[in-house]
Order: sequence, then structure tokens, then C-alpha cells
Amino acid sequence: MNGTKILIIYTGGTIGMVEDQASDSLHPFDFDHIKSELPELRKMQCKIEALAFNNPIDSSDMNPDVWNYLGDLIEKNYDKFDGFVILHGTDTMAFTASALSFMLEGLDKPVILTGSQLPIGVLRTDGKENLITAIEIAMSKDHMNRPLVPEVGVYFEHRLLRGNRSHKMSAYHFNAFDSPNYPPLAEAGIELRFFRHLIRKSDPYDFKYTPLKVCDIGIITLYPGMSPKQIERVLQGPEKYYILQVFGSGNAPTSSSFLNALRQAVRLGKLILSISQCEVGSSNLSKYIGAKELRKAGVVHGYDMTFEAAVTKLIYLDSIDLSTDQIRMYLQRDIRGEMTIGEDLRTQIETIG
Ligand code: ASP
Repeated sequence: MNGTKILIIYTGGTIGMVEDQASDSLHPFDFDHIKSELPELRKMQCKIEALAFNNPIDSSDMNPDVWNYLGDLIEKNYDKFDGFVILHGTDTMAFTASALSFMLEGLDKPVILTGSQLPIGVLRTDGKENLITAIEIAMSKDHMNRPLVPEVGVYFEHRLLRGNRSHKMSAYHFNAFDSPNYPPLAEAGIELRFFRHLIRKSDPYDFKYTPLKVCDIGIITLYPGMSPKQIERVLQGPEKYYILQVFGSGNAPTSSSFLNALRQAVRLGKLILSISQCEVGSSNLSKYIGAKELRKAGVVHGYDMTFEAAVTKLIYLDSIDLSTDQIRMYLQRDIRGEMTIGEDLRTQIETIG
């Protein structure tokens, strides 16, 4: 066994369940006895410690307070461990991975989230492979003994994805997650293949954890025929930030009443961030007339950010001491590998893939 130390944090979700033969029911796994429950872990070439939430939660109950609790745990244990594996329900795993990627600045250790579609204690579980490989990724180092993945990732069904690019695609398939606008960082076949040119280099400054504040965000998903009045009503709400889910490559209606509603909200100091309703591609506010009009109305360009990254980036930027203009600037800047700016994404993905 080498000296690498990994901390597993169990937050809740399907992965932590085992079958109780006697009562024929599922109950949470005993993380104090993780190695007797999962003897495979004894064979791993690292020292493993595990912590579990006192009251494991379904991931639908995730919120900034729980993200802060996780951030605190990582900060307190940062120097003691070489990597972290977070076991999490799949439903909001992509939100937690995105949130942590923003909260953990200057990260130079792996924080790998995983979960499963079937409980770890049932025969056909995907949980064992997901957990074991997530640990292997968290303990992987280069020839200089530096972690190979110094960023927040989601490992699921043989692929490691960048956390803030990940998205839950399926509530049915084992292959539940995808990263539609960025290629996988690693693949697990008979051996682990890391695509090192795609993995973020650790930032050249010290690790810093920023807790998040609670922040309500208005969500507007455009659909054909949506009345400008309705948009006006939503924008008159108390929220300061809105995510506008636009069509295709950043398109939206061109009627003056629609654009006036946006203009008016921006004038009142609201910040409207546009992302595409399409999973692949980017909200490019300079491509079509509708998109250009959005930009002129003061809407901010979210490029190819996932919805999960857009929500958590807004919460993060709101939690630090920034002016609205600075928030607007950072929203259009790639700060943790969450967006691709100014490139033809398809060509990029096809070339790299
Ligand atoms: N509802 C569960 C959760 O997200 C599903 C899962 O664990 O995969 O917590």
C-alpha cells in the first residue's frame, strides 16, 4: 500500500443502500464499516477513510447550505488527504459538482463525485465499479507525484466528466451522465486512460474555499407563442438574476414588446443570462438577428454552459463581493473550465474525441 489517503464522503442517494435479506428491504450502508461491507476496498493501494452525513439526504434536498457543509469538510481535511470521493444521489449530482467547482478555488487535488443507478447492495449494482474507479481516479498521480485530476469531476459508467460540464441524461440507463460540450477527461476500460490535455491544470494560487449564499434565480424558458406580457410579469419579480433559456444558437423572438421587456428589466439593474435550450452547442449572441437583438437589449451571453453550471456560477458570483458589472464580466469569462468561448464546439469535440 502506498501512502495515498482518500476521504470518501457519503451524502445520501441510491449508491449507499444495501439489501437487508431478513426484511427484504433496503437500508443505508454502514460507512463506519465500509471495508467489511465492501471487501474489495481492502485490495486498493491507498488508505481510505469514510465519513457519512448523519442524516443522508435524497439529492433533491441539496441546497447551498449542504454545499457549504461539503466545502467545509473538504477544507478541514484538505491537507490530510490526497483526494476526495463524494457519494451523491444522481438527480442533482451535476449541480453539486458545478457548485463545488466554483467554491473550491485553486484546487490541486481531485474531488470526484459518483453514485449509482442501483443500490450498492443489490446484485446488478453499478455502484461498486463506480466507487472503486472513482477512488482509483482520486488516487492517480503523475511521475512527479502530483494528482492527475486536480479538479472536480463526475465519474459514472466508465467515464470521468468535468463536473461543471456534466448533466444527468437518463433516469434509466447505467450510462446516466454526459458532458455534451466537453469531451470526457478519462475513460475506464481494461486500464484507466487519462486525456491529460483536457484536464485542467491546477491554478497557480493557493486553495481557497468560498461558501455560498442562498440566492433566488428566475428561470425563463422560451417557447413559441410565449406572450411578452408573461415575460414582463416574470421579470417584475423580486429576483436580481434570471436565466433565459433561448432557442438553438442563442435565438429569441424579435418583437419589440419582447425586447422592450428585457431592456426595461436590464435598465432596472437585473442581470439576464442566456443559455441554449439545446444540450450541444452554444448561445452565441452574434449569430442570428434575434440573438443580436438580445445582446443589444443587454442580455449576457452564457455560451455553452449547462443549466447546472449557469445556476451555480450565478450563486457563486453573487456570494462574493462583486459589483453587477463585475458579475456580468465574470459570467462571460471561463473561470473553471465551465464554458468554451469563441470556438466552433463541434469541430473542437470531433477533433479531440
Ligand atoms: N433520488 C436519488 C437521489 O438523487 C436518485 C439516486 O440516488 O440516484 O438522491
